[in-house]
Amino acid sequence: MSMSAARPAEDEQPVQAYDVVVVGAGFAGMYMLHRLRGLGLSARVFEQGSGVGGTWYWNRYPGARCDIESMQYSYSFSDDLQQEWDWSERYAPQPEILAYANHVADRFDLRSDIQFDTRVERAEFDERANTWKVATSDGKAVTAKFVVLATGCLSNARMPDIEGLDRFKGKVYHTGEWPHEPIDFSGQRVAVIGTGSSAIQAVPVIAEQAKRLTVFQRTANFSVPAQNGPLSAERRDWFRKNYPDVRRFAREVSRNGIYTTQPDRSALDDGDNERRARYESGWQHGGVVFMAVYNDVLLNKAANDTAADFVRGKIAEIVKDPAKAKLLQPDSHPIGTKRICVDTGYFATFNLPNVELVDIRDNPIEAITENAVRVAGKDYEADALVLATGFDAMTGSVAKIDIVGRERQTLNGKWAEGPRTYLGLMTAGFPNLFIITGPGSPSVLSNMIVSIEQHVDWIADCLVHMRDKGLATIEATKQAEDKWVEHVNEVAHNTLYPQANSWYMGANIPGKPRIFMPYIGGVPVYRQKCDEVAANGYEGFAMAAAAQRQTAAAS
Ligand code: FAD
Ligand code: NAP
Repeated sequence: MSMSAARPAEDEQPVQAYDVVVVGAGFAGMYMLHRLRGLGLSARVFEQGSGVGGTWYWNRYPGARCDIESMQYSYSFSDDLQQEWDWSERYAPQPEILAYANHVADRFDLRSDIQFDTRVERAEFDERANTWKVATSDGKAVTAKFVVLATGCLSNARMPDIEGLDRFKGKVYHTGEWPHEPIDFSGQRVAVIGTGSSAIQAVPVIAEQAKRLTVFQRTANFSVPAQNGPLSAERRDWFRKNYPDVRRFAREVSRNGIYTTQPDRSALDDGDNERRARYESGWQHGGVVFMAVYNDVLLNKAANDTAADFVRGKIAEIVKDPAKAKLLQPDSHPIGTKRICVDTGYFATFNLPNVELVDIRDNPIEAITENAVRVAGKDYEADALVLATGFDAMTGSVAKIDIVGRERQTLNGKWAEGPRTYLGLMTAGFPNLFIITGPGSPSVLSNMIVSIEQHVDWIADCLVHMRDKGLATIEATKQAEDKWVEHVNEVAHNTLYPQANSWYMGANIPGKPRIFMPYIGGVPVYRQKCDEVAANGYEGFAMAAAAQRQTAAAS
């Protein structure tokens, strides 16, 4: 896509100059704006959607909800906020999370600095002025000393390359770009393509409405029950009372930013009965913490097999037709190496008479016709198509912006072989450009609000430091970045994660380099590293006052 139309002409004066431009008004962009305001910095947030909430603004598919408990998947920066907001269920549904995002925007009066319905199309660093020129889809441009990419890790919906998709006469929906009006599938034949977290949430709800539901499965996925239900007043009060400890634990102790028990033993330490009992208790508790029953499930294949076998056994118990159960039992990747899914009644849905499962592992979808999905010469007729085909994750939304750094280097050019960052926060050659939960940080491997708050606070502290010291630029040095990238890869390859064709690896996007993108060292280790870097005068970053020419960054 050409960005040249939105580029400001050389002699055109930018209309407005800000301290900071923030791209995106999801949980990251909203909190960033709040902190910038508190520092007295001028800021403009650009959001391509018409409202706040990011993920929760776009993903309105039936059954969408968080899979980390809402009492934890929520901001911690304001005690008043966490004490006053009432979640109705253990895992809140999408409309409630979106209502929460809107409440935060109102409560902290954020909207006046957010420009909605506006895409950032291009950002170019002016080395003489040490400012970024930011061009937007309304044909305007602004300047900013700093740009913060709060563009989201799962915000660039991936349309599958299936022949004939544009020929389909019925309605086509992508889970990540769901319409705003309610969709009623009653009486319809619905085809769902994909069996990741989005499909696993949507399928049971669509099955309740649709006359016929056909699910096209390429890779069977591991899923554990959410054990969702109304949030009891006792549990809510317990969290409210214990928030200081809960939040501290999530930041400083828990590897994934979730308050839960820390596993202290290997899956191979227990005999069969004891192990089954522990997995059963994790299953009954529900949610992603199932993966934390033992400490080596993601490190040791033999340990992993015990958890995978347990879940495969559960699927065989739930799904009555043994042939269907077999198809639904994942066998192509270790459990957890693709994001573990959390469901409400997913496997049991395949016992319903109106639900069909079509295995497309060995027979990919040949084509989509005007009224059907064709597999192995057979047409599965449908009135509506639901694409639950995921996202160009972690880098997709950044790549859609034409970002030009020092010496006119483009970020897409620099990242052609995979993303390279220092701490996931900055990338060498692109001064004053921060990324929230970028590749190279724990990000999608964690409770993301914990990681978002950590990054926003780190960036805010950095900006204060720069202001106090009269510094104009900060950028990652190439040496620090190279060392960090090496470390991120090394840690990832000590785990089972790289064994799966997952979106963590970029494997869901044809041609995307296969790099394990998030940092798997754990939330506390990572936080400590970021804090140490700051305490040591922003070690690994080159900082300069306005008049100084940066040399360290280039060396
Ligand atoms: P987003 O919420 O993705 O917001 C980014 C915003 O940037 C978007 O609104 C987008 O429109 C905007 N944007 C992007 N590019 C541009 C541009 N060029 N110009 C202008 N605007 C732009 N994480 C968890 O920890 N727990 C969960 O339970 C959980 N559930 C999830 C469920 C779903 C269905 C999905 C898709 C993700 C889930 N996640 C979950 C991950 C989730 O993305 C994060 O938790 C969090 O919401 C991300 O917030 P963000 O602000 O970083 O990004
Ligand atoms: P996803 O995990 O990437 O799943 C996409 C699915 O579509 C996969 O089953 C994939 O099969 C399939 N697919 C893609 N292209 C296809 C094609 N051409 N033909 C057939 N099948 C195709 O995407 P997602 O389900 O949207 O989830 C993405 C992430 O968002 C999650 O991992 C999670 O982090 C987050 N999320 C969380 C929740 C939650 O519970 N809170 C809900 C939704 C999303 P292959 O596996 O074979 O590639």
